[in-house]
Amino acid sequence: MSKQDWAVYHALKQPVTTLKGVGEALAEDLSLLGIKTIEDLLFHFPYRYDDCRPKDLAEVGHEETVTVEGTVHSEPVLRFYGRNKARCSFKVLVGRYLITAVIFNRPYVKQQVKVGRSIRLTGKIDKHRLQLTVQHYQWSDTASNKGEETLLPVYSVTGKLKVAQLRKWMKAALRDYAAYIPEMIPQSLLTRYKLLPRPEALRKIHFPKDYEEGKQAKRRFIYEEFFLFQLKMQALRKRHREQVEGIPQHYDQQKVENFIRSLPFELTAAQRKALDQILHDLKSPFAMNRLLQGDVGSGKTVVAAISLYASISAGYQGAFMVPTEILAEQHYLSLKQFYRNENIQIALLTGSSTPKERREILAGLQLGTIDLVVGTHALIQKDVYFKNLGLIITDEQHRFGVEQRRQLRRKGAAPDVLLMTATPIPRTLAITAFGDLDVTVIDELPAGRKKVETYWVKEHMLDRVFRFMQNEIDQGRQAYVVCPLIEESDKLDVQNVIDFHAKLCKVFPQYRIGLLHGRLSSAEKGKTMRRFAQGEIQILVTTTVIEVGVDVPNATLMIIYDAERFGLSQLHQLRGRVGRGNHQSYCILIADPKTEAGIQRMHIMRSTHDGFEVAKKDLALRGTGDFFGTKQSGLPDFKVADMIRDYRALEVARKDAQALIQNPSFWTDEQFGLLRTYLEEQLGTGEKLLD
Ligand code: ADP
Ligand code: MG
Repeated sequence: MSKQDWAVYHALKQPVTTLKGVGEALAEDLSLLGIKTIEDLLFHFPYRYDDCRPKDLAEVGHEETVTVEGTVHSEPVLRFYGRNKARCSFKVLVGRYLITAVIFNRPYVKQQVKVGRSIRLTGKIDKHRLQLTVQHYQWSDTASNKGEETLLPVYSVTGKLKVAQLRKWMKAALRDYAAYIPEMIPQSLLTRYKLLPRPEALRKIHFPKDYEEGKQAKRRFIYEEFFLFQLKMQALRKRHREQVEGIPQHYDQQKVENFIRSLPFELTAAQRKALDQILHDLKSPFAMNRLLQGDVGSGKTVVAAISLYASISAGYQGAFMVPTEILAEQHYLSLKQFYRNENIQIALLTGSSTPKERREILAGLQLGTIDLVVGTHALIQKDVYFKNLGLIITDEQHRFGVEQRRQLRRKGAAPDVLLMTATPIPRTLAITAFGDLDVTVIDELPAGRKKVETYWVKEHMLDRVFRFMQNEIDQGRQAYVVCPLIEESDKLDVQNVIDFHAKLCKVFPQYRIGLLHGRLSSAEKGKTMRRFAQGEIQILVTTTVIEVGVDVPNATLMIIYDAERFGLSQLHQLRGRVGRGNHQSYCILIADPKTEAGIQRMHIMRSTHDGFEVAKKDLALRGTGDFFGTKQSGLPDFKVADMIRDYRALEVARKDAQALIQNPSFWTDEQFGLLRTYLEEQLGTGEKLLD
């Protein structure tokens, strides 16, 4: 970076108190807004503009806030009332309209009002009475008061700060520091997207001539925010790849293909593609860090099984971590089934393992006599050691925290890591949210799957729901009934899962009806789940312990009680428990939502079956912060950009950043000096984005 660049880069880092008029007291208020330096100030963008351009009254609506220009047409009338209150009114001719201007509590105005003077008034207009309640006014006939016919920025303020002060300082800062505002976006990209240069965009986002100018300035900063963020992410990813030396796992391709052929079904094209990417990563000398995303029922488990098979056949151990014991046991059983003709030692390690089992498993993992362990959080405990851990798979990864995943990763030297999730985050958002991950999407369901028909009914139709249920079960199918909470609560008035179980037992004395909830011991839960999976139980009444991953293809009916209490993604996950076999499946939402959002959620569930679509709508309803859960998301606070609204710009910026990072001249060329400095500064703290 040249000396001059350096000076430029640091001019903006001076404290905001360098500006005339910004004292210590106000500096404190400013810092509450996150403004410490000149740069912070310049990037404190307005959230809207006051339109101070004179308007033609004919085009203005009732009760709108407007600025008009006219001539005083009558002597002022000043009236005092109440305690210390004053009201001054006079007529003003604005175009063809004779309006009444009313100014409160500024009695001195009376002296200034003279028939024939030109005045500019801003305030709310009552179109019926042609009366304008004045917020501010300006005499436009004195030269010094030549008003500004512009949009004035409105900023968020706090403490003693006034918007007018911020406007003044902003102008001063723009004037004095315009020369020091460095361009961050490479010229070629500015040209390609017709983006305003940075200093000009800054000026225009604060003081646009019209809304279009403001919009263009904003467009530039939306791109800039995404671009810089993505640049950081791509740089992190590059660094991760260079620093972490992975294990090239030399599995036998032929053996793996034979194993795939031994499976009871053919892989879908999407599964095959995902698998190929994973196998490629296993073989490569980089440590894989990949997110496998697939809608519920898309068949991620078998992809995991094959990947683990490859790693094990190359001489390594595998670990498969899942969030619940029910799921751990299910995966353990299905992997055993998949590997029934293979010489692979699998163990199941959960909180319910007996001390003796646990001791044996830990010894086996350390000695290398166990090839694969499936388990819950039990896997990340301190005393768990592996001889030769090659591949880690985390299912339902969104259920784990960053720290838990990191702990598991540390169990090996540089294991390959595959995170699986059914939480269908649109792909770009996933890449952004998880930044340094590669993302693979299984965007296809196995053939023969039918849409889960989804209905929304009110509580009073329960009898019909029961008849429908009876019909399904009499045809040999099974049903889930999900209730939101386990205990009765006056406040929430939710159906108690235990009550509902009792009620169903009365309605259907001929069926075996199971009950699952969080208060049961793991052993009890496991037993009930196994009985349901084997068809011994026809109806399973449960809380959301069932939500993730459970796979019972013969279950065709999902009834969700008080469905309005669940979020969209959760409803979709629950619905995904059915429709896993060849039979037509149904999801019945019993709900009486009181809110508009609740009603909307029911409509979306009825009409949308694709998890990605559901997620997108969920995002739109809830906003990103809530969707990702701010704690772990690692997402930055964008000032003007919005990941949902500006989805396309995000995708474009990601590709551009990726291309730039991969371009060797980025690391040497003078013109990218500033960007490199920016990255150096950012990456010092960026480490925590890695998980
Ligand atoms: P999820 O992606 O939700 O974890 P699973 O891995 O549990 O889905 O798979 C759902 C069901 O589909 C399982 O019963 C599984 O055996 C079956 N399945 C997976 N892949 C295929 C395929 N290619 N063809 C047919 N059935 C499949
Ligand atoms: Mg699954």
